[in-house]
Amino acid sequence: MSAKALLKVSGLKVAYGGIQAVKGVDFEVREGELVSLIGSNGAGKTTTMKAITGTLPVMAGDIEFLGKSIKGRGAWDLVAEGLVMVPEGRGVFARMTITENLQIGAYIRNDKAGIAADIDRIFGIFPRLKERATQLAGTMSGGEQQMLAMGRALMARPKVLLLDEPSMGLSPIMVDKIFEVVQDVYKQGVTVLLVEQNASRALQLADRGYVMESGVISMSGDAKAMLTDPKVRAAYLGE
Ligand code: ATP
Repeated sequence: MSAKALLKVSGLKVAYGGIQAVKGVDFEVREGELVSLIGSNGAGKTTTMKAITGTLPVMAGDIEFLGKSIKGRGAWDLVAEGLVMVPEGRGVFARMTITENLQIGAYIRNDKAGIAADIDRIFGIFPRLKERATQLAGTMSGGEQQMLAMGRALMARPKVLLLDEPSMGLSPIMVDKIFEVVQDVYKQGVTVLLVEQNASRALQLADRGYVMESGVISMSGDAKAMLTDPKVRAAYLGE
């Protein structure tokens, strides 16, 4: 029997004014899975993520997290329940230090010793952040900010981590590092929904994949099977 769905999106529609960007999307992420959502520019991936995390209103359909509808709930409230997003463009607090950004990630917690231990754990994953603990986040490179954004999300001890294009704009070495950390987080038992333009890397890591095109899910399946699917290869893997 397959694991239960932690996140379930049904018939989701999202619009910007009169323009519908997401046109009835269904997918689920089961406990312990890493699911990749791929698709070209403007397909509606980011819009879907924002609707899930309560930063955009849902026009129709439903979103369930841990078996309950979360439609209309705010992002901060959802973080407290374990649904945490690392947004596209990172969204670090530029005028705060690295350590302060990490502390903010734990705003829902009050276990001081646990928070300190988790900051040490994040510094272990990303030694670069430790070296620069007192540097203002806004002065860091794109790759460093991505590390910080992921570290900050992990400070909330997520049950489901949503990652929106974590590799965007990074150097090849940094891309490797970020995907390595995504894999480690998943191996430690965190359920992950990964939105990526780098379809090949995203499917290599994933258990299952969904392809989004013009606001709908056009393909889905086992990630390894998708990697060898001629249609996916032609459209998304540059072949
Ligand atoms: P990308 O990989 O380029 O980020 P995406 O799949 O995440 O693409 P979205 O950012 O969700 O796509 O965009 C889906 C559609 O919604 C696009 O046509 C986009 O132009 C439109 N859109 C996104 N944000 C807004 C906005 N704030 N106002 C109006 N239209 C928007």
